[in-house]
Amino acid sequence: MNEKIEISDKTVELVQKSERDLKEIFEKIDEQCEKNSWKVLNAFHKYQISEVHFNETTGYGYGDIGRDTIEKVFAEVLGSEDALVRGQFISGTHALTVALFAYLRPGDRLLSISGTPYDTLHEVIGITENQSSLKSFGILYDEIDLKDNDFDDEKILSYLENHPVKMIEIQRSKGYSTRKSLSIHQLERIISKIKKSHPEVIIMVDNCYCEFVEEKTPIEVGADVMVGSLIKNLGGGIAPNGAYIAGKKELVELAGERLTCPGEGREVGPTLGINKLFLQGLFFAPSVVASSLKTAVLASHVLEKLGYQVEPRFDEERVDIVQNIIFGNPEDLIHYCQGIQMASPIDSNAIPEPWDMPGYQDKVIMAAGAFTQGSSIELSCDGPIRSPYIAYMQGGLTYPYGKLGVMKAIEEIQKTK
Ligand SMILES: *Cc1c(COP(=O)(O)O)cnc(C)c1O
Repeated sequence: MNEKIEISDKTVELVQKSERDLKEIFEKIDEQCEKNSWKVLNAFHKYQISEVHFNETTGYGYGDIGRDTIEKVFAEVLGSEDALVRGQFISGTHALTVALFAYLRPGDRLLSISGTPYDTLHEVIGITENQSSLKSFGILYDEIDLKDNDFDDEKILSYLENHPVKMIEIQRSKGYSTRKSLSIHQLERIISKIKKSHPEVIIMVDNCYCEFVEEKTPIEVGADVMVGSLIKNLGGGIAPNGAYIAGKKELVELAGERLTCPGEGREVGPTLGINKLFLQGLFFAPSVVASSLKTAVLASHVLEKLGYQVEPRFDEERVDIVQNIIFGNPEDLIHYCQGIQMASPIDSNAIPEPWDMPGYQDKVIMAAGAFTQGSSIELSCDGPIRSPYIAYMQGGLTYPYGKLGVMKAIEEIQKTK
């Protein structure tokens, strides 16, 4: 028994055995990490990042050379024409909201082709009533469900024939659903079909949790604009908040006009000391995503060996950093999350309990002992207390810390058997 964090030899051996089986998969993750590191370093070199870019502005934030250069670096890394990368975005949801309100006008129609979007967007769109929703401005909304974990091409194309659609939203990561996340190949196929017959439709991709997992970005396979959070993959655990919108220049400009004010747009926005953190976060991001992936693969392998259903399985192609463990009973889900919290660097003495959350039907348990509030690139795990009792685990700033978290979580479920 390890005295300090109390993990039994049995658990340690179980996990070490898994690690030996996962060698090849870990090597592949390292290869992808190297490619992404090249991308980041090349972008830093292209724009000659130097100490002047760590500047900060206050007040209006006019002429912020660091901010403007960081946006070029992000665009380069993401393969897009342009990018808006700001600390004024509160979250990924906020950036998605800014984009939706930037491109849609009264009478326009928004279509989601990956089923019902992420929970926090329901009030934004007006799926759940809200007096400030898109719906309240007269924007129409419809959605088409996935079919067998893939786009329903036929239904999507026939919908577009019969309705004027201004904008399409695609959410890659599964959110709190049981579907699989959507790969870049699936995106490429549907986007090219849509663009062939309807080139004018704006295709926006919610890319949360997916950056640096696959080689190409949604923009590189034809999407017009994509959105992600900096307290997830691209912030590398260093960015203290913020999000990005990347894509076609005119769409990025429009998002700027909406984020601040018409007429001022991207020219304003003080950086208040965040520039260096954004650069450092992006620099670390390939490794942090790799650590998160290894942590997810390890959990998938070990928990499957313990008899639980997992999604994705350890050797499946991954699209995002999220690992589902389907516990089948509430006790194991709760103990697993509690174990993750116990091995966290922050608030390790807090014991998470299932709780009512605004916007959720069921109680939710959340483990997040993170440096940054709500950061889910740091090891975190949560799940609604409803059948089949699925844990959504993601993140891991370094693999050793991720592994410790998984070991402690396993220890907690085993201990109660
Ligand atoms: C995290 C996430 C968001 C945005 O969440 P925030 O917590 O607002 O940053 C949106 N969509 C998906 C699929 C996500 O995973």
